[in-house]
Amino acid sequence: MTALNLGLPRYRQDGADAPSMLGRPNVPGLVDSFGRVARDLRISITEKCSLRCTYCMPEQGLPAIPRDNLLTPAEIGRLVRIGVRDLGVREVRFTGGEPLMRADLADIIARSSDAAPGIDLSITSNGIGLDKRVAALVAAGLTRINISLDTVDRAHFAELTRRDRLPDVIAGIHAAHAAGLTPLKLNAVLMRETLPGAADLLAWAITEGCRLRFIEQMPLDADHRWARDHMVPASELLAVLSERFELTEAPREDPSAPAELWYVDGGPATVGIIASVTRSFCADCDRTRVTAEGTVRSCLFGDNETDLRTLLRNGGTDAAIAELWRGAMWAKQAGHGIDVAGFVPPERSMGAIGG
Ligand code: SAM
Ligand code: SF4
Repeated sequence: MTALNLGLPRYRQDGADAPSMLGRPNVPGLVDSFGRVARDLRISITEKCSLRCTYCMPEQGLPAIPRDNLLTPAEIGRLVRIGVRDLGVREVRFTGGEPLMRADLADIIARSSDAAPGIDLSITSNGIGLDKRVAALVAAGLTRINISLDTVDRAHFAELTRRDRLPDVIAGIHAAHAAGLTPLKLNAVLMRETLPGAADLLAWAITEGCRLRFIEQMPLDADHRWARDHMVPASELLAVLSERFELTEAPREDPSAPAELWYVDGGPATVGIIASVTRSFCADCDRTRVTAEGTVRSCLFGDNETDLRTLLRNGGTDAAIAELWRGAMWAKQAGHGIDVAGFVPPERSMGAIGG
């Protein structure tokens, strides 16, 4: 594997090489051949980012996507309409790269909100610049935000993200609270380097009234440095947190939610752990992903992508787009396969897919 294999999508163009629908039941939803149904739509809207987290981006950032290849707000709104009206999508999350890097984010949210009134519309963000834009985003229809924060130690944050921007992230968290985007969830990637500060981060999150969830690090870094024997499993985090807090198992927010929850010191505060690697939840996966260039990616770890953008731009009907999307999801792979001998990480890194 070369050091920087960022990958370009393998398109199935215009339905010409559309995935086989053999055996698919005649139902409208996004079912796959393992019986799962996707209802949670993640749309990546940019490859650009204000940070360079070592577990995600290369130091120089991802190669720029030509502007014409990016889906426009109108195209995103149309996909949201098709997803919700025709395919059973129940929630939509915008991600990236960093969604706040798109100047037209409020327009994207407004068009999606018009396309599917009442739907849960959220973003996953690093929070940088949110303080200046949150009011406009909420007015456009944003209902929730998850903010990523791995440490509250400024020097460590600068090292992990290659940018000294911790105060900006904290300003974003405060702004989200003030705008009523609560309960605010914080995501932290669990790594050897972040383990010693994990208890401090949890204490800080509780003081700030945020719900912290740790995510096991997945082999989706652009630099391909992830190693199974170096990653921190959820069990190790639990042992470290238990030295400072009393943790008791709590019910999941909903059965399909990936985070396992623990009450901290008797509650009501909780901490979540998304053990994507060691306790894979692929069997319950309900996600369908669209990349910033308009390809359906049925699994984080599957490099086969199905191009919707060509149909979107060449007069394809909503029905044709929905059918192509159904085919892409029918072909979804069983799981990430990290523990299978010969596992090869996908070509795209996390920042190029959207977490
Ligand atoms: N820039 C936004 C952010 O950081 O929240 C959205 C995009 S980011 C790719 C989405 C989520 O993926 C973040 O919570 C981030 O921490 C997580 N992530 C990135 N690389 C990861 C990796 N290798 N393993 C696990 N989670 C990762
Ligand atoms: Fe940017 Fe988010 Fe990736 Fe960090 S995790 S580099 S903030 S896209």
